[in-house]
Amino acid sequence: MPDTPRKLSSVVGAFVLFVLASPIFALRAIGSLFVFHRAAKVIRAGFIRCPSCGYSGNRLDVLIECRAKGCGWTEHRSLALPCSRCGERLEWIHCSECGASIELP
Ligand SMILES: [Zn+2]
Ligand SMILES: [Zn+2]
Repeated sequence: MPDTPRKLSSVVGAFVLFVLASPIFALRAIGSLFVFHRAAKVIRAGFIRCPSCGYSGNRLDVLIECRAKGCGWTEHRSLALPCSRCGERLEWIHCSECGASIELP
């Protein structure tokens, strides 16, 4: 069996790569947890603060009609959540006070 050492070294190589990459996986997991936590906080509050004028009364829980092509689903939900029919998400809204764009979590 001449190619056993080569197989073994590729397994060891993959393992070493995995060990080297594991801090990156951990960091990414922590990062996505942080983003999820921030989004959950905004969705629970039901309002989003405008970074331009500081107005914090921009309502998120509204009756919304999905603007995705061929959908048009209308429902009461948070603007930060995806459409329950097609999964389309709004990426930003206008501030109802100053009109600036606010990025949704
Ligand atoms: Zn939709
Ligand atoms: Zn504003």
